Amino acid sequence: MLDTPTNRPALPPEIARRRTFAIISHPDAGKTTLTEKFLLYGGAIQMAGQVRAKGEARRTRSDFMQMEKDRGISVSASAMSFDFKNFRFNLVDTPGHSDFSEDTYRTLTAVDAAVMVIDGAKGVESQTQKLFEVCRLRDLPILTFCNKMDRESRDTFEIIDEIQENLAIDVTPASWPIGMGRDFLGCYDILRDRLELMDRADRNKVAESIEINGLDDPLLDKHVPAEQLAKLREEVEMARELLPALDPQAVLEGHMTPIWFGSAINSFGVKELMNGIGTYGPQPQVQSATPRAIAPEETKVSGFVFKVQANMDPKHRDRVAFVRLASGHFERGMKLTHVRSKKQMAVTSPVLFLAADRELAEEAWAGDIIGIPNHGQLRIGDTLTEGEALRVSGIPSFAPELLQSVRAGDPMKAKHLEKALMQFAEEGAAKVFKPAFGSGFIVGVVGALQFEVLGSRIEMEYGLPVRFEPSQFTSARWVHGPKDKVDAFMTANKQHIGHDNDGDIVYLTRLQWDIDRVARDYPDVTLSNTKEMM
Ligand code: GDP
Repeated sequence: MLDTPTNRPALPPEIARRRTFAIISHPDAGKTTLTEKFLLYGGAIQMAGQVRAKGEARRTRSDFMQMEKDRGISVSASAMSFDFKNFRFNLVDTPGHSDFSEDTYRTLTAVDAAVMVIDGAKGVESQTQKLFEVCRLRDLPILTFCNKMDRESRDTFEIIDEIQENLAIDVTPASWPIGMGRDFLGCYDILRDRLELMDRADRNKVAESIEINGLDDPLLDKHVPAEQLAKLREEVEMARELLPALDPQAVLEGHMTPIWFGSAINSFGVKELMNGIGTYGPQPQVQSATPRAIAPEETKVSGFVFKVQANMDPKHRDRVAFVRLASGHFERGMKLTHVRSKKQMAVTSPVLFLAADRELAEEAWAGDIIGIPNHGQLRIGDTLTEGEALRVSGIPSFAPELLQSVRAGDPMKAKHLEKALMQFAEEGAAKVFKPAFGSGFIVGVVGALQFEVLGSRIEMEYGLPVRFEPSQFTSARWVHGPKDKVDAFMTANKQHIGHDNDGDIVYLTRLQWDIDRVARDYPDVTLSNTKEMM
């Protein structure tokens, strides 16, 4: 049994054993490979490679997925649950492409920690840096895996320095690599004083683990060639002098990241990382909400929607709302209150994402992610409770950075287009604005690729060819202020005004100058570039 540092008052054991996290990385660093190995050790799959195979089968079902495959990006996020030792891991997949940063941001509101995967030869890359900044906003604990050590990598100190410098976080080595590239033998496990040797013959095999008694143990001479051993001893001694020792509290507060070295493809270092997530990763945390925060140990069930995915199965026009449980013990069939509409809903067929398959969830606990099939009632940011009017906060919607007008290829189909656009807006795939002046819709996204995805999904899922055209506007801001001031502002600026898909007022901008002008001429009106989804 591993001892878990108690960072919260005693939680019920079922909740205390949960670790809900996401993997952040730059494309190609090894996120998919690592996920497969997690599932392999989690007993969820028999052989690594199944995740991809399953994914492939699903992808062939649609052009959209085809596009995802062609581009080598993962557009849709999902959740996976598996057990490791006495822990229950919930891994929430984040879309890797920078064009989907808003989706990624919201996904990160549903986890308690992140595993940061970096490529040992490339170090901290742009996308890692961006995702890290998002984690920092919430002080999420970060555990680091330095992958591909079986290839020529950078010097270990250099990698650690780069993380410390670029990300401004203390780094403490949890393991230390012995050799690299073709000479990579394995790692010295600094935290548990073991020698972990890599098995090059079988990629799915668990590597050999030898208990040793400190770096002077003669057992080391038997397994590590003299030259490499001398280097290891020297480096670890230096590391202990120069780098901070592991401080579990600092890890939980997000100020320090432990780093493990390994090779995901060779299954090496993965178990040590999993042990680390269990031992040093946070238990389900308190969720901020209004009018009060929600603690995981509360007996009443509550949760919030952080993602909605429509048309997962094109044959049934279903939607699945991904709900992170914030408190309590959920049982299938429970009646929960949908706080926004004040309506009750019986959750009769919740889905638990066990490995690559959907499975009916009989029960779930705070920290878990469940999928709730619905017909559109559940939207991003919605809170579900056993009756109390709580609203989870901190799930923002960002102002889009690119706007285009959209038209149906067939003008008779304008109504259909509106329906499709509203659905994608509710899913969080795009912002949709209806300008007060003129006809048609303006679609806003964060990255250009989203237009393409949207176009092909509308065509595929609604049989509607659409055209995107340049818009005179470049961004949008939500408008707030006293009603009379806002009304006067709207009347005077009609050609800039629109409504988003929730009916909230937006100011459509062409240039920064527009925003500056409003600030100058209408001091009582505020323009905001984020909106809380609730
Ligand atoms: P993702 O884009 O982050 O999901 O990365 P993938 O898991 O798809 O890996 C990208 C590429 O790196 C693939 O060709 C993998 O086979 C390869 N790869 C992953 N882990 C390792 C590793 O530990 N060593 C080596 N040499 N290659 C790896």
